[in-house]
Amino acid sequence: MKCTYVLGISLCLVACAESSNSNLDYVHSKAENATISPLGGIQILRSSLDFKFDSYDVCVRKGSKTISDSSLLKETKLAYAAWIHAAGYGEEEWELFNFQLKSECKDNQDHLASVVILDVDKDTNDSQYDRYSSFSINCERSGYSYSCGGSSATLGLGRWGNIGYSYDGRSGKWTDLYSFSQVRASFSQYVDWHSLKEDFKRNKELSSSDRNELLSAYDRLSGNSQFMEFVEFSDLLAEKDMKSIDDEKFSKLFKDFQKSGKNSLNKDFRSEQALYHVLLHEVGHNFGMRHSHQQAPDGSIAVETEGLRIKKDGREEFVSTMAYSDDYLYLTKDDKLGIQSMRRETENYLKKRLP
Ligand SMILES: [Zn+2]
Repeated sequence: MKCTYVLGISLCLVACAESSNSNLDYVHSKAENATISPLGGIQILRSSLDFKFDSYDVCVRKGSKTISDSSLLKETKLAYAAWIHAAGYGEEEWELFNFQLKSECKDNQDHLASVVILDVDKDTNDSQYDRYSSFSINCERSGYSYSCGGSSATLGLGRWGNIGYSYDGRSGKWTDLYSFSQVRASFSQYVDWHSLKEDFKRNKELSSSDRNELLSAYDRLSGNSQFMEFVEFSDLLAEKDMKSIDDEKFSKLFKDFQKSGKNSLNKDFRSEQALYHVLLHEVGHNFGMRHSHQQAPDGSIAVETEGLRIKKDGREEFVSTMAYSDDYLYLTKDDKLGIQSMRRETENYLKKRLP
């Protein structure tokens, strides 16, 4: 199962998808479809099933063109810690995960694992899984008014993995397990990704004391930090209601067009984005979460809750990392209720099947 995160960027013409169902607040996969998600992985590793691996490996591919390996590892761990903690798990479960920076993260292995891949075109093998398209800006001038819109192009893709198993016909219990496609998060090569640190520096809405607090907290974190240090940093992002900044490249092209006196502009450009918001969203898919602004597709579970939507500029918005909404840098109440429901479903499903 694959889900996309699409960026619809525009300055003057704000085109936002209407929510197709006003009652649904969070949606997630059925447990049977996401058994080797990190949540299922925790159950599998704790069972007495004879599985040949004893950790849930998260392979983070190093060598990105735009973000340092250390920031990528740190932010991947931050995203995993946020979801694991929101699901109600703690340090004991965190210890089951093994994060590694590698120059190659192989796919389709018989392995309880997930991969995080930036710059998808780096290896020719990548293209068989994920295809990304470039971004363009289209502007028109009419009298004294200008309008610019951006193409909708995918920023990242996240999927949960697929699993095969043998089982005992009498008890129904699994006797053997093999995964044939790993959990995967990948990110477009048409984006200049930047770290949270860079985003805090560029964020003009932050007070200087907030900015300094966030920057020093970010610098204290490293790939070797403890689980609770990542959780505390996530809590700080939530406390300050942090969202990532708008695409500066797009804003600059728009301003340049206004000054140019030209009647139209059609131009490809490289988008500039903070990786972490998209990473948090795609890792959410890895955990089995689906979009909270879309009607539940077949084979998924939707749960209705109250008070998680806001009116903003006359439009209804979902307060959720898993919606195409504001670029949250933390998990909202909606996200947390969703992942807790996903955990319950996963535990109930696997309890009947794992020895
Ligand atoms: Zn998505």
